[in-house]
Amino acid sequence: MRASLSVSRAIGLLGVLALAASSAMLGTREPAFADGQPEARWWKGNTHTHTLWSDGDGAPELAVDWYRARGYAFLALTDHNQLQEEERWFPVKPSSRLDEARVAALRERFGADRIDVSERGLRLATLDALRAQFEAAGEFLLVKGEEVTAHYSVPATSTAPKRDHPVHINALNIDALVPPRGAESPAALMNAALAAVRAEGSRAGRPVVAHVNHPNFGWGLDWEDLAGLEGLGFFEVYNGHRSVKQGGDATRPGTERMWDLALARRLAAGGELLYGVATDDTHDYFGGATSRPGRGWIQVRARTLDANALMEAMLAGDFYASTGVTLSDVAVRDGVYVVDVVDEGCTVEFIGMRKGGEPGAVLLSTSDDPAMYTFVGDELYVRARVTSPRTHPDPNTAGESERAWTQPVAVLPR
Ligand SMILES: [Zn+2]
Ligand SMILES: [Zn+2]
Repeated sequence: MRASLSVSRAIGLLGVLALAASSAMLGTREPAFADGQPEARWWKGNTHTHTLWSDGDGAPELAVDWYRARGYAFLALTDHNQLQEEERWFPVKPSSRLDEARVAALRERFGADRIDVSERGLRLATLDALRAQFEAAGEFLLVKGEEVTAHYSVPATSTAPKRDHPVHINALNIDALVPPRGAESPAALMNAALAAVRAEGSRAGRPVVAHVNHPNFGWGLDWEDLAGLEGLGFFEVYNGHRSVKQGGDATRPGTERMWDLALARRLAAGGELLYGVATDDTHDYFGGATSRPGRGWIQVRARTLDANALMEAMLAGDFYASTGVTLSDVAVRDGVYVVDVVDEGCTVEFIGMRKGGEPGAVLLSTSDDPAMYTFVGDELYVRARVTSPRTHPDPNTAGESERAWTQPVAVLPR
């Protein structure tokens, strides 16, 4: 969403009547190279990937090669509490994540000179080595990342066993490891990790993004926890891993419903927006069905393919999440939320909450191209979901349609 945050801030300062004027200015697109810079374009990336550095089953070069070969522009390897920096040897054993056949396949694919094996095992490629091997200016980028992984433990009682709430947060574009920490509740743990990621960004002097992962995994976080997230937030509305209970259950909401409930509470209390990402959370590179690559991704609009530019765009809400739908444009212009879909036959639903209404209401459903929602002026927020007539070829949940989610825009003063 181009300049959505600026829109919401403009509205906050000037009131609803300013919407048309302010967004008209924001909607102006510069011609290509008008200021000597390339025009902004979409870059496809996955921000949640595991390798042999943690619990993935693929060597790091195998993971990077998978994404680069399929046209992704950027990738973050986000191993658990790990930055792929030190010397590490992974044992080669029969019937394990790394057997002789997989080592032979790595040699075949990347050349024997690149695959360093000793009696200690396979030497895992570091991020620096992967960058030297795979990065190409303007074509492919590795964003330094980590899944900050912690658990909030509820002690055993006489009637219930000890219970762990997983709290997993991806930190993108950090420079140094952000260690997991303890806290007195799942929400406090989440906010402590987010604060630590922000502090690392300040220390390193670079924009960083932290997204809360799979909130329903292990029922680690509920929608009220997401609502209580401090500052501008990001979370996984879609995660490709099949154990994350994305759809909720009989009594607990799915992630998209959680998004609306959290947005309504946050914005009503004067809080910041919450943006949604889609990711793979890849672990399985050899056919295992649980968390294969290619299920969900983001498209980020930036002029150049560098990590700082990508993070700045995400912080401005200028990105969308997808599981198969491609958009050519998302913008707020002249008080109209515009979603221009490339794929044929899609339905665009503008979802939001009007004053006195319910969170997650469908304000407009249309198959117009482009889809346009005209702000009435009393919306707390508006976002869009695009649904394709195609079913996802390798979904998280059977029968799932290919979709895209654009970011919420706040309208009412907060
Ligand atoms: Zn996780
Ligand atoms: Zn993960």
